[in-house]
Amino acid sequence: MVDLKSQYERYKSEIDAAIAEVLETTTYINGPAVKLFQEKLEKYLSVNHVIPCANGTDALQIALMALGLKPGDEVIVPAFTYVATAEVAALLGLTVVMTDVAPDTFNITAAHIEAAISDKTKAIVPVHLFGQCCDMEPILDLAKKHNLFVIEDNAQAIGADYTFSDGRKVKSGAIGTVGCTSFYPSKNLGAYGDGGAMYCNDEQLASDLRIIANHGQKRRYYHDAIGVNSRLDSIQAALLEVKLRHLDEFSTARQHAAAYYDRHLSALPGLKIPARQHNSTHVFHQYTLQVPAEKRDSLQEYLKEKGIPSMIYYPLPLNEQDAFRTCSRLASALPVTEQLCKTVISLPMHSELDEEQLKYICDVVKEFLG
Ligand SMILES: *Cc1c(COP(=O)(O)O)cnc(C)c1O
Repeated sequence: MVDLKSQYERYKSEIDAAIAEVLETTTYINGPAVKLFQEKLEKYLSVNHVIPCANGTDALQIALMALGLKPGDEVIVPAFTYVATAEVAALLGLTVVMTDVAPDTFNITAAHIEAAISDKTKAIVPVHLFGQCCDMEPILDLAKKHNLFVIEDNAQAIGADYTFSDGRKVKSGAIGTVGCTSFYPSKNLGAYGDGGAMYCNDEQLASDLRIIANHGQKRRYYHDAIGVNSRLDSIQAALLEVKLRHLDEFSTARQHAAAYYDRHLSALPGLKIPARQHNSTHVFHQYTLQVPAEKRDSLQEYLKEKGIPSMIYYPLPLNEQDAFRTCSRLASALPVTEQLCKTVISLPMHSELDEEQLKYICDVVKEFLG
């Protein structure tokens, strides 16, 4: 699905030098590399504050903690997402309210959210799924009207641009109250281990996020709040700083691969290529097709026989997961989510796909569906 080796080889000298420098300076935690990466990411995203942390799941949890959400408060999340989004809310004793998503973009919309709001709702977690922003402008309007926090789960869409109706462009994750991202190796900006970050513009919130990520302390050994231990280590920060310089090239390579898939697959009967939203760029964390439910698993089997990896993101809606039985409620029925779990299939997608590989993959899909 991803080719981390070729990408490493392409930037090997820069990455090796950055890692070697951390080894020389021996500041493995909170070293200058972390500060440098933080500043570079602030600049890239045009946000006032980036707070690095240990992983994307922690980022979401710390955001909910810093916003002061209390047990019994409701948080609205899409049911078609990775578990982390909802898991951290449940862990904090919050009630997870699950909504359906749009059938074309796979994303939650303002209409879904509006139907899910109750007098206990405190926050919304839009997930920019597969690399494309949710339509954020109406979501922000709704959040303002109901006084809700907007926590963007930007684990899959770092680098995407959202365009407001007045023409203003904002980077995904920098749109709502706080953005959360993951540097898991297979993410668009991937570390060689775990990593994550939170970002926001508000100075007080940034300070609270930083304190909670660091055992609730501002001054060492003086603890103002119950926090967690969540750090990005210096080696990861150093190589992420190198990769960040190339993030836009990675996104472009992914977009070219997606355009190739589009050109060669869009005419196949019964197959739906991923929709593009008019006001967001798509950085293709995943290239996800919809195929008839009765053919999906046999297509995956066929691809496997031909040596092509594929993945089902996600096979079971969150509301059908045992873990959420007692800590969630449904905003309404979730027919789209249930249907998507039966029809989606993601093809290989990364920055190193070449035309020969793309042609082979498309030929095999065509052989099966054509
Ligand atoms: C990867 C991911 C996360 C969690 O990130 P980790 O770094 O693995 O903890 C959260 N939400 C979404 C949508 C993700 O894809």
